[in-house]
Amino acid sequence: MPYSAIVTSLPSLIPFLAPEAIERKLGRPMRLRLGANESNFGISPQAAEAMRKAVDRIGWYCDPENFELREELAKKHGVSRDNVVVCAGLDDVLSLCARAFLDPGDFAVNSLGGYPTFNYGVHGAGGKLEFVPYKEDRVDLGGITEAAHRVRAKLAFVANPDNPSGTWHESGPIHELAKNLSETCTLLLDEAYSDFAPSEAIPPIDASNPRIVRLRTFSKAHGLAGARVGYAIAAEETVQNINKIRMHFGVNLIAQAGALASLRDPNFVAGVVEEVARGRAEYESMAATLSLKTLPSATNFVAIDMGCFEDAKNTLDNLQERGVFIRMPGAPPLNRCIRVTVGTAGERKQLAEELALVVKK
Ligand SMILES: *Cc1c(COP(=O)(O)O)cnc(C)c1O
Repeated sequence: MPYSAIVTSLPSLIPFLAPEAIERKLGRPMRLRLGANESNFGISPQAAEAMRKAVDRIGWYCDPENFELREELAKKHGVSRDNVVVCAGLDDVLSLCARAFLDPGDFAVNSLGGYPTFNYGVHGAGGKLEFVPYKEDRVDLGGITEAAHRVRAKLAFVANPDNPSGTWHESGPIHELAKNLSETCTLLLDEAYSDFAPSEAIPPIDASNPRIVRLRTFSKAHGLAGARVGYAIAAEETVQNINKIRMHFGVNLIAQAGALASLRDPNFVAGVVEEVARGRAEYESMAATLSLKTLPSATNFVAIDMGCFEDAKNTLDNLQERGVFIRMPGAPPLNRCIRVTVGTAGERKQLAEELALVVKK
């Protein structure tokens, strides 16, 4: 066989079924796209302008060091430029971390039904996974610590706030987790939703600590999911090691310009965060009207508790049939829920109508 042993051993799975694939299957476009926690609130007008201007320079390679963007991010987070590495989305950083920290056969720990792209990266690096079930609909930090020790994991992955539950832990327990991991285990703290979270959920950044890697993205609150920009804030040594294997021209010139301009327009993101908070509250009352509960959320989506897997799956299928794209968690106990992204006011109204129709069935 011409293929590597690692790749040959992998199943042909994809982490996500894209809405485009669903549309091709259905033979018609989706009417409501509320499944991937994208932002339906557009982008900063300054980012749009910067990206349009960047089109004129697209004949050039981008700056492979992402220098300006790293400079701006370093300022924002109170760290040095050497503590920041920018990649083609947070997902890209996850795969790079798997390659940087794992030898084939090494273990990583994730929540059972937790963010799947991390698992994808681990498998691609020849790593193994140990899963810890959610506890009371939150990431089980004690369980993660225990599992990491048991399998001598090199990486522990925690999304905080979490996807797909939306729930979160405060800084104290997250710090405690990092402290309780063995010295050979690094905590990957995925903070894709940090913009939406209360400040208590975001531990102060200490880039001198090599045991925690903080991961962020422009895909959610900044609305730049299609541009593909994410980054890690980490110890210099970690950044240097990721730099050895990352694709150096991987963040394209237009995306660099958009991310930089968006960072310099914090009022735009603040507005999105405010509107998303309103939307979450609306989803809660929408669910209550249908006698359904929601999980607490510090993200741009809400998990609605349908009671059991069958009811969640039926709701998802029926909504999909009606052209409404949502998703649901992949494992118990959370797969009794559907996960709905907070859309615009108009989209939320439409969703409320659709959900009412489907739930009454
Ligand atoms: C959306 C999301 C990501 C993906 O971020 P990209 O920068 O678009 O790759 C990573 N982690 C979590 C938990 C997410 O929800």
